[in-house]
Amino acid sequence: MKILLANNNSDERAQLKGTLVDWGYEVSECGTGKEALSLLAEEGAPKLLVLDSAMPEMSGIEVCQELRFQQSEEYRYSIVLSESDKHSDLVMGLQSGADEFIVKPVNMMELQLRIRAGRRLIELQETLLEAQEALRIQATQDFLTGINNRAAIMHMLNQEMNRTSRTKNSLGVLMTDIDKFKSVNDTYGHPAGDAVIKEVAHRIKDTLREYDAVGRFGGEEFLIVFPEISHQDLMSMGNRVREIIAKSPMAIPDGELDITMSFGGAILTGESKLSDEELIARADEALYEAKEGGRNKVCMAPLEE
Ligand code: GH3
Ligand code: MG
Ligand code: MG
Repeated sequence: MKILLANNNSDERAQLKGTLVDWGYEVSECGTGKEALSLLAEEGAPKLLVLDSAMPEMSGIEVCQELRFQQSEEYRYSIVLSESDKHSDLVMGLQSGADEFIVKPVNMMELQLRIRAGRRLIELQETLLEAQEALRIQATQDFLTGINNRAAIMHMLNQEMNRTSRTKNSLGVLMTDIDKFKSVNDTYGHPAGDAVIKEVAHRIKDTLREYDAVGRFGGEEFLIVFPEISHQDLMSMGNRVREIIAKSPMAIPDGELDITMSFGGAILTGESKLSDEELIARADEALYEAKEGGRNKVCMAPLEE
C-alpha cells in the first residue's frame, strides 16, 4: 500500500521513509503541505498519510482541514506528527480531521500500529465501495445481455423527457421486438434463443450514437432512447438498426440463424404532455403495425396533433 509522507525536515523524512519502506510500504514524499495536496489530487494517490504538523506555508493540520473540506468519497487516513504534547493541540489536530496524532520523537512501534489500523480501515472501505458498485451494476444491468435493464432504461427515458421539456428539443423512442422469436426457441432450444438475444443487444448498442441508450425492456423486446432527434432521423436510425440486425446471420450453438426485427417509433416534442407510458404505448402501437405489415419494418406513430 502507498503512503504519502510530508515533512520539510529532510533528515527526519529520509529516516521515516527508510522505516516505512522496510515495513513494505510504497512511499511518495514531499516537503510542504501544498505539495502534499497536489500529490493527493493525482489519480491513484495514496490513502494513508503521514504528515508533519509543522511545515512552512501549510501545516499537516491544514492539509487535513482542506481534505475534510473537499469531502472526497474515498477515505483517507491521516496521521499527524507533532512536536507538541499539549492537550489543546491534540484536540485541535483531531478536530481538523486528522485520524491520529503522534507526539515526537515518534515511537516507531506506535507509528507502525497506527498505520496498520489505518490500512485496515482503508481496505474495509475499498471492499465496501466494490460491493456498492457491484450492487449498482446488478440493479441496473440486464443479467443476460449486460445492457441496461428495464428499470435503468426507464430511468434514462424519464431524465431525457425532463430535459426535453426544458430545452424544447424533441426526443425519440424505438420499441423493437425480434420477429418470430418463439420459433427460434422451439426449433433450436432456449440456449440458441439466449444467444440471439445477446447478439441483438450488442448489435443495437454498437449502432447507436454515443448519447443514445438501449435497454432490454422484456424477453426479446428492447427500448431505445434517442435524445434530440427529429421524426425523420428517428426513422433513419430505426432502419439503420434494422439493417444491421438483418444483414448477417447470428451465431447459435449449432450454427447460424437469420434474424429480423420490427420497430415502432414515437417522437416526444418539447411541448408534449405525454407520460412515459403513453409515449411507449404509441411506440408499441407502431411496432404492432410493423408486425402486421409483414415484419422487418420500421413504423412510426403519427406526430401528436
Ligand atoms: P413476433 O414476430 O410476433 O414478435 O413473434 P414472436 O414469436 O417473437 O413473439 P412472442 O412474443 O410470442 O414470443 C416471444 C418469445 O420470447 C416467448 C418466450 O419464450 C421468448 N423469450 C422471452 N424471454 C426469453 C429469454 O430470456 N430467453 C429465451 N431464449 N427466450 C425468451
Ligand atoms: Mg415479444
Ligand atoms: Mg417477437
